[in-house]
Amino acid sequence: MFTGKRKFKKFEPKIWLSSPTMHGLEIEYIKVAYKTNWMSTVGANINEIEKMLCNKIGCKYAVALSAGTASLHMAVKLAGVKFGQKVFSSDLTFDATANPIVYEGGVPIFIDTEYDTWNMDPVALEKAFEIYKDVKVVVVAHLYGTPGKIDEIIAVCEKHHAMIIEDAAESLGATYKGRQTGAFGLYNCISFNGNKIITGSAGGMLLTDNKEVADKVRKWATQSRENAPWYQHEELGYNYRMSNVIAGVVRGQIPYLEEHIAQKRAIYERYKDGFKDLPVTMNPYDVKNSKPNFWLSCLLINKEAMCKQVRGEQEALYISEQGKSCPTEILETLAKYNVEGRPIWKPMHMQPIYRMNGFVTREGNGRAKTNAYIADGVVGQDGKPLDISMDIFQRGLCLPSDNKMTVEQQDRIIEVIRSCFE
Ligand SMILES: *Cc1c(COP(=O)(O)O)cnc(C)c1O
Repeated sequence: MFTGKRKFKKFEPKIWLSSPTMHGLEIEYIKVAYKTNWMSTVGANINEIEKMLCNKIGCKYAVALSAGTASLHMAVKLAGVKFGQKVFSSDLTFDATANPIVYEGGVPIFIDTEYDTWNMDPVALEKAFEIYKDVKVVVVAHLYGTPGKIDEIIAVCEKHHAMIIEDAAESLGATYKGRQTGAFGLYNCISFNGNKIITGSAGGMLLTDNKEVADKVRKWATQSRENAPWYQHEELGYNYRMSNVIAGVVRGQIPYLEEHIAQKRAIYERYKDGFKDLPVTMNPYDVKNSKPNFWLSCLLINKEAMCKQVRGEQEALYISEQGKSCPTEILETLAKYNVEGRPIWKPMHMQPIYRMNGFVTREGNGRAKTNAYIADGVVGQDGKPLDISMDIFQRGLCLPSDNKMTVEQQDRIIEVIRSCFE
């Protein structure tokens, strides 16, 4: 499909979307675990990172777990979600936000997105409470490290007596009105997956201000062993605790969190500057109230500058056009030069696995509209009144945001992307 608007030199080695950035300290803490033989889910690295994260985020208790997804699962279980119970969830997010609802037998209802931060729309959330009056739990993500409209979402949830589970997996270190994300919900989750702003290669954490809650999660996460001389079990358990070796990597990364954020911010600003005369915008944030961690820089192509693009369930087609482009063309062009970009996370309400679940936009039930467009095969064409999640998915993409990318490399990437609009 590539029509070769301009030719560039291939990048060697490959430029990644967001790869782990190690500093040397990590291996030292791994060695301590090895030498002291705490090669287990108990040890000093675990205790230390739990304290460090409490201090950083401003919560009382942190429980280190094997993954962010495990922490979300524990949060949904803590919320007491029962079989068949409906739970509101962000729509434009990674599916680990919603899957844990289903692990507990709950039914996610997806809430449309707003254009100001690309997160859960508080207006659509209010609408959802009108339709589903008995919902008591809301799972809110901060996409790409940008805090959502937290005050508004809290106000809606308080009005309807619903609790918030915060999915801060992508937003570690981001603040809203001076407060860290991961400190706003009743149960909060972070992740140390390999592509996140800091990493343990894997891992996650549940954050809370309630000691009983923290103790309960520690117990559940270690197979729910009772305090008895033998293996005694009164409730269902999980093997979700973090390894002390993994915790060593996290421990070595924590001192570099702010440095990573500064690098990611510089990447975002350079893109923004490099694209200022193109018909595009960057992923936006509330400049007055929030400081994102700038985990991923993203681009949104103006409607009038979109060439024709059609996406099926597994593949995408587009027709190249002078002066216009589309996410598929840009991603294919980047790939051609050995650079990794990625489509915007495909909204949950568009995922086949969640096709039967509710989806609420500002206007109310967003399902009728969605299904009609998918059936048409004309999703996202100009002039169609799309829901906002789908619109951002159609016109947006994630740019290479690796903090090891040099200024020179990024300048060349900017040129490659600019060439797509020639
Ligand atoms: C990465 C991620 C998770 C899950 O974290 P893991 O540690 O990979 O299990 C959850 N939610 C969002 C939004 C994420 O990006």
